[in-house]
Amino acid sequence: MRYSEMLLPTTKETPSDAEVTSHQLMLRAGMIRKLAGGIYSYLPLGYRTIKKVEAIIREEMDRAGAQEIFMPAVQPSELWQESGRWQQYGKELLRLRDRHNRDYCIGPTHEEVVTDIVRNEIQTYRQLPKNLYQIQTKFRDEIRPRFGVMRSREFSMKDAYSFDADEEGAARSYERMFDAYERIFRRCGLSFRAVEADSGNIGGSYSHEFLVNAASGEDGMVYCLACDYAANTEKAETAKPKEGISSESEFLPLEEVHTPDIRSIEEVSAFIGVKPRDVVKTLIYVADGKTIAVLVRGDNEINETKVRNFLDASILEMALDEEIMAATGSPRGFAGPIGIKCPLYADYSLINMKNFVVGANREDYHLKNCNWGRDVTIDTFADFRMIADDDACPRCGGEIRFARGIEVGHVFKLGTKYSKAMNATYLDSDGKEKLMIMGCYGIGVARTAAAAIEQSHDEDGIIWPMAIAPFQVILTPVNMSDENLALTAEGIYEELRGQGIDVLYDDRDERAGVKFKDADLVGIPLRITIGAKRLAEGLVEVRKRATGEVSLLALAEVTDFVKEIVVRELDAFAGG
Ligand code: ATP
Ligand code: MG
Repeated sequence: MRYSEMLLPTTKETPSDAEVTSHQLMLRAGMIRKLAGGIYSYLPLGYRTIKKVEAIIREEMDRAGAQEIFMPAVQPSELWQESGRWQQYGKELLRLRDRHNRDYCIGPTHEEVVTDIVRNEIQTYRQLPKNLYQIQTKFRDEIRPRFGVMRSREFSMKDAYSFDADEEGAARSYERMFDAYERIFRRCGLSFRAVEADSGNIGGSYSHEFLVNAASGEDGMVYCLACDYAANTEKAETAKPKEGISSESEFLPLEEVHTPDIRSIEEVSAFIGVKPRDVVKTLIYVADGKTIAVLVRGDNEINETKVRNFLDASILEMALDEEIMAATGSPRGFAGPIGIKCPLYADYSLINMKNFVVGANREDYHLKNCNWGRDVTIDTFADFRMIADDDACPRCGGEIRFARGIEVGHVFKLGTKYSKAMNATYLDSDGKEKLMIMGCYGIGVARTAAAAIEQSHDEDGIIWPMAIAPFQVILTPVNMSDENLALTAEGIYEELRGQGIDVLYDDRDERAGVKFKDADLVGIPLRITIGAKRLAEGLVEVRKRATGEVSLLALAEVTDFVKEIVVRELDAFAGG
């Protein structure tokens, strides 16, 4: 491609509305342009990278035995009624109505459509398993679209769906997709970690997210230094302590303390003269319309995902002031377990607590020296909190570490959730009708490209991994009006193209400095520079974007040299 013919609008200025580096650089490098909130166009350079990511995904999905299909973006509401998600999905689902007053949505995901296809086409166990995938446009009316294409409203997703006859088969399908994802992200040149993720009420560790290591990531992960445990912090379990209340101190008498307008854990602990870990927080929620209270230690953070899963609730919301008043008889800030009028749940970490501080369910009062049994009884202790710095690995007790990441992919065992709701059955070898067992597997195409930028850039711009670089090589004659340079460049350009190398030929009539800046900004892995002085000696320069390393080569050798690097870098990740 000749630069002079390309639509490649680079800019020096950092756009003010772009918060993260990848968003800034994608705009500055002329890869994307915003059409509306969370809706983007891809310009030629951006779309080249997207197509490369897609090609890697296709190769690996095909290798894993999945078959490519293409389903419609617009989906009839009837299917969503059948699965129950027309009601459940909420405002992220973009709904529309046609001229005949029929309801549709623009698919945020395709479980309903694919299940409908499979239930119509598959009758017996002999036709199973099947794994169908597509790369297709999704729409999710995200409450906060941000970070450019990282969290947009319209985006392209690779989504695959597996259908199996039994649990063993479903586990195999899951594993194949897991392995394919590892290959895909490795080939994209990413440093990532597969972590256990929340799988709603399905349970087990049958969901993994692939998180690209990046400080700007929206997801938190925790991993063990001793074993291979790794989980999204939302999912990470905390162990139940051994029961046994310390006998070192006495059980002191319950005591009411006047705490005027003292509400937060910090205020209460400072005022009473104890540590936050000696205070028990009472958090009141409404779960599917029912008020409940969850107790966690003052220095811990509640994990609402765990609470929701434990209660099997679809909607969990913090209680409003009037709901708190109804349950506790007092305004917000003074709730406690004693005498509260709703079911009480407590985190495991509270089991062995003694003489702790709680709210008094009375305005401006707290209670000191609360104790289990004597003052209040808890029916259910369970895991309701976020894992913390001082926790050990829930698997092996080893030391843990925290990191942040960008979720680029998600593999998920669905079980019979959709096959049951939508009656996707098959006849087994014993002639019995059985439910198909499903899995679903997603990758955000543009988010993967953006994550690569988050991970690999410097102050000059993007540093693309070879496999997903929009071009592998940029060819830069420093002065186009020097006929000798231009002619030499033309020759190398044709040679490289003949070797199947993606080359961008910067044939613009610009100063060398401008060309170099653009080359660095758009992040092409190799730059061939042709200057008059070197050329007089029959030499050209090849510079690596990532390291700045420069090699001098004889004209006749440059194509082989470049090709060798390109092939080596592509192979390094592709493996066998
Ligand atoms: P998130 O927690 O980031 O909202 P999700 O759990 O909703 O993601 P999935 O439904 O598992 O995402 O979708 C599969 C993949 O699609 C994600 O791993 C991610 O790469 C991509 N993806 C999801 N939402 C968006 C979005 N709004 N913009 C771009 N990519 C997205
Ligand atoms: Mg989401």
